Amino acid sequence: MRNVLLSVQYNSGLNSPTDGDALMEKLRGLKCRECGRGYPSAPVHVCEFCFGPLEVDYHYEALKGVVTRQSIAAGPPSMWRYKDLLPIDGDVAVGHHVGFTPMVRARNLADELGCREIWIKNDSVSHPTWSFKDRVVAVAVTKALEFGFDTVACASTGNLANSVAAHAAEARLKSYIFIPADLEQGKILATLVYNPTLVAVEGTYDEVNRLCSEIADKYRWAFVNVNFRPYYSEGSKSYGFEIVEQLGWRTPDHIVVPCAGGSLITKIWKAIKEFKTLGLIEGPVRTHMHAAQAEGCGPIVTMIKNDTDVLKPVRPKTIAKSLAIGNPADGFYAYRTTKDSGGFGAHATDEEIIEGMLLLARTEGIFTETAGGVTVAATRKLIETGVIPRDQSVVISITGNGLKTPDALYDRLETHVKIRPTLSAFDRALTDLKSQTN
Ligand SMILES: *Cc1c(COP(=O)(O)O)cnc(C)c1O
Ligand SMILES: [Zn+2]
Repeated sequence: MRNVLLSVQYNSGLNSPTDGDALMEKLRGLKCRECGRGYPSAPVHVCEFCFGPLEVDYHYEALKGVVTRQSIAAGPPSMWRYKDLLPIDGDVAVGHHVGFTPMVRARNLADELGCREIWIKNDSVSHPTWSFKDRVVAVAVTKALEFGFDTVACASTGNLANSVAAHAAEARLKSYIFIPADLEQGKILATLVYNPTLVAVEGTYDEVNRLCSEIADKYRWAFVNVNFRPYYSEGSKSYGFEIVEQLGWRTPDHIVVPCAGGSLITKIWKAIKEFKTLGLIEGPVRTHMHAAQAEGCGPIVTMIKNDTDVLKPVRPKTIAKSLAIGNPADGFYAYRTTKDSGGFGAHATDEEIIEGMLLLARTEGIFTETAGGVTVAATRKLIETGVIPRDQSVVISITGNGLKTPDALYDRLETHVKIRPTLSAFDRALTDLKSQTN
């Protein structure tokens, strides 16, 4: 694990930063998560020696004392206040306003769930494409420009499609977006509007992803979640940094995270560990990381429940399409994150997902997509089963906006009354409504 010195000399010549300050050496390059071998910064994602996944590595010693609570607080109100801990060498190219989303104390939901302290980290608002994917894409597209690519691409369960298409437009890059053909209309429309080339593939996300690996080998495109995955996934750390900073440089007792490929949960945990390494958090970290998945596609939570590090791929069948990855790339690391932090996981049925969406909307005025319904439902189960003690603090990760997946709710909600535009019609309707609720 600590076998990282190798990569130091690599980084000195290649892609060295131009701004010439003390942070010039912040990036060591890439490092294999399995064998620890170092690589220079490049659009690669697999270790040539052991086929392990590559991850961005930093000179934490050089960052100590340079990245402080004060230096971060002096930064912009966006994810770029953490730029020194993100793999960007030069200037930020796209997504200048991504991040620093609201952290909301959810007192009504806490009352309903019988828990002392619940917070919602709300990435479903104040983002260009209303999901946390804008964080990962802002890093990946900036990196694609740094490496001189003219085309970006992705395999997507929906939100990534929206975000890659939008940021490619902003960067004036060409984009190819690959999605499973049965995606929600809202997600398709919110991709097409940015004028990418959208390729609907008749198959599951996992089949789309396999196809994209082959395409990435053949064409020189920046596939944000394939060959750019090491850079892409680092963007998720900003979600974790914000949780800690917005809680007043405090770590919560629990964070519940929806898992698709398993990257977000892994990177929130990495973010907390980095803050600890840099001395930005006092005292021991006692955060338990919990995974939330749909019953119809929950291979990571199944690993956790069976306490096995072997992932069994599944064929997804759930309304939470943004989480419908049957063979998650970071499944093993997501499982390890829950183990290492003393967390657990919970599955949510389609019915529970809808109830979770409605519960969050009714109690906090936050309309999240199906993935958020999964997270709220999972949190409820973790509290009810005592995995999350009722007197501790919990952050619920809300990662996408409900207006993109209205399909899930059409049959569940209807207009209460329809009247002619007269006061007497309304009076009559009101009397009827009141008698119904009595
Ligand atoms: C992609 C996505 C996730 C999970 O992301 P991974 O990093 O792949 O686990 C969670 N919520 C929403 C809304 C997403 O679109
Ligand atoms: Zn390796």
